[in-house]
Amino acid sequence: MGRSAFRKTSDVRYINSIAMIDKIMYKRVTIFLSITVIFLLISNYSALRKLDSIGQKRDLTPTIIVEEDSSSIDLQILKEPLGTIVLIIDDFGYRNDLISDGFLKLNIPITCAIIPGHSQSKIFAEKAINAGKEVIIHMPMESSVVTSGEEEYKIKTGMTSEEVEWRINEVLKEIPSAVGMNNHQGSKATTDGKIMSVVASVLKERDKYFLDSRTAANTVGEKSMRSIGVPTASRHVFLDNNPSIDQISAQLDELVAFAKKRGIGIGIGHARPNTLKVLETKIPELLKAGYKFEFGSYAVN
Ligand SMILES: [Zn+2]
Repeated sequence: MGRSAFRKTSDVRYINSIAMIDKIMYKRVTIFLSITVIFLLISNYSALRKLDSIGQKRDLTPTIIVEEDSSSIDLQILKEPLGTIVLIIDDFGYRNDLISDGFLKLNIPITCAIIPGHSQSKIFAEKAINAGKEVIIHMPMESSVVTSGEEEYKIKTGMTSEEVEWRINEVLKEIPSAVGMNNHQGSKATTDGKIMSVVASVLKERDKYFLDSRTAANTVGEKSMRSIGVPTASRHVFLDNNPSIDQISAQLDELVAFAKKRGIGIGIGHARPNTLKVLETKIPELLKAGYKFEFGSYAVN
């Protein structure tokens, strides 16, 4: 009995000690599991934070683009020219020399208006295109005062529509690189609505623009072109009616002031030595000051 009682007691102790070990183990497992859960929660949380920050970075991307856009707009504003100057140089076709080459060497867009039918017309048109310049037809048109030359090319009041059309198509055959036309003289023809409507129809058909040289105050050139949908504009300043260096400089200053005030100024000069001299001197200064130069095709609408 004593023995069995002892055994019982030791059994109980044994059971108790096992229970205690179990309890300790249970605690340890619980602590281990808790630590694991906490560790998983922390690592999960930090992973989520990482994803969040990536998401935030992605969300920031459009803001960065906006900032880039706004800064480039700012740069564009800074780069916005003081004014745009369009230079049309008339009466090419007579010469092919250092003077005409000098205009081609001007490092800006220049529109060369070439009179058809002269010895150098075709040759110079090709040279101008090769030099990266724009070429237009400088169309002889009837003046209100007596003039000579280009009789077989001149557009005159009293001509039939067919005659006007034939003449324009002939000069476009001679200078196919021309993208537009302006008038040589023409103080009578450009005031004739019927004639200018025919000119407009042909230019519309041939996809050319018309720049009115405005040799007459009552010209209907621009109006006739607009009614048919030919891209058009008018000359603002003549540069060299007086051929002295001082007067050409003064006229160029007027053109520059016009461009600054109105955004764009269209000037017409002629293929002559003093005009070239003034342009050679002034163009670098104007570029440095922030003016830009464009072809006639830029000015028409
Ligand atoms: Zn002319």
